[in-house]
Amino acid sequence: MKSLAIFGSTGSIGRQALSVAEFHKEEFSVRVIAANSNADAVSKQIECFHPEYVGMYSPDSAKAIRERFPEVTVVSGEEINALAALPEIDTVVNGVSGFAGLAPLLSALNAGKTVALANKESIVCAHHVVDDALNRFGGRILPVDSEQSAIFQCLEAGRREDVRSLILTASGGMFREFSREQLQKVTPEMALHHPTWSMGGKITIDSSSLFNKGLELMEAGWLFGFGPDDIKILVHPQSIVHSMVEYRDGSVLAQLAEPDMRLAIQYALTYPERQTSQLRKLELSKLCTLSFFEPDCEKFPAIPLAYAAFRDGETLPIAYNAANEVAVEFFINKKLGFTDISACVRHVMNKIPCIARVDSADKVYSIDADARRLAREFCENTSSRRNG
Ligand code: NDP
Ligand code: MG
Repeated sequence: MKSLAIFGSTGSIGRQALSVAEFHKEEFSVRVIAANSNADAVSKQIECFHPEYVGMYSPDSAKAIRERFPEVTVVSGEEINALAALPEIDTVVNGVSGFAGLAPLLSALNAGKTVALANKESIVCAHHVVDDALNRFGGRILPVDSEQSAIFQCLEAGRREDVRSLILTASGGMFREFSREQLQKVTPEMALHHPTWSMGGKITIDSSSLFNKGLELMEAGWLFGFGPDDIKILVHPQSIVHSMVEYRDGSVLAQLAEPDMRLAIQYALTYPERQTSQLRKLELSKLCTLSFFEPDCEKFPAIPLAYAAFRDGETLPIAYNAANEVAVEFFINKKLGFTDISACVRHVMNKIPCIARVDSADKVYSIDADARRLAREFCENTSSRRNG
């Protein structure tokens, strides 16, 4: 039986990871759950899965859980990350949203754990630090992001030196057919609705702005060791082909399935085995069309900005991510327009002082803090210009 720690247990990925653990009860035992502040959801999960340890980032929520479940060890604040390194844990599922996912990832990898990684922001910002921890402590990352899981599966079919390119598919988001004028009028309510996937708020907005794909471009590069010239992005609105690998003989291998994150989560948890799953069977004969086309980089600057950040590979990926996180928060609070998100990211990437090698967690945290400050200034100025 594998012992799991589920970080971000109350979110979209966390709940689906618990659903996989429940479906394969005989294979998995959930010994740690960790979240930010949602004590009600965590209470229900404790009743259902009986973990021995709970991490609640918010001290108030931790107190509420401690009072309700005196038999459970409950920790709060940064201490929750130590739960990813407990000796009794085999695999850590990282479903924390945003840059906050870096701390549990590093904690797990520094203890040599296997991490089923959904959180992409962490590897985008700290790939040297992540590689260093993998090399020193012998842990492993198994991808959960559906595109990365697809690439991982397609790479297993051939030799690395025979790969010509990776092809990342993108749903293209809700607004792929919008004009520039229509994009300027997009509201948070409109952007929080995704056509094919049901996900947390931040990634749903990132999917409609294509910042999610920009992050995934870098995530793929650093997970699998490919550069910006080796990875292409194709819009594929049906979200059936989850990504592809092109080999030098002209073969293109693709992974297809119904869009359901439980598949990628389960594959990361059972790898290298394949088990039965809760997925609906893919009825190929009922699919009318599978279409693919190039993304519109003028309407969606998230893509060219991501290639620029990827080429730098040091400071700019952190700036890209931090500025996007800040701008998305302003957008959700109706203090920034949808198209201002990419303007904010471009501004921060232009302003941030670049350093040659970002090879320590301290450097990552310091650049992230600088980038957030620049992004907040930009958002506040843009917001007051609008209202003034
Ligand atoms: P959600 O917003 O649904 O969930 C986020 C989770 O993170 C919640 O459990 C939240 O707790 C928890 N959390 C937030 N901050 C902290 C913290 N400091 N410490 C511990 N837990 C914290 O996000 P998603 O599940 O949609 O996404 C999670 C990650 O997975 C993202 O990086 C996303 O890009 C990636 N991903 C998601 C996919 C999806 O289908 N949803 C697909 C592929 C990748 P609380 O509820 O208490 O606030
Ligand atoms: Mg994805």
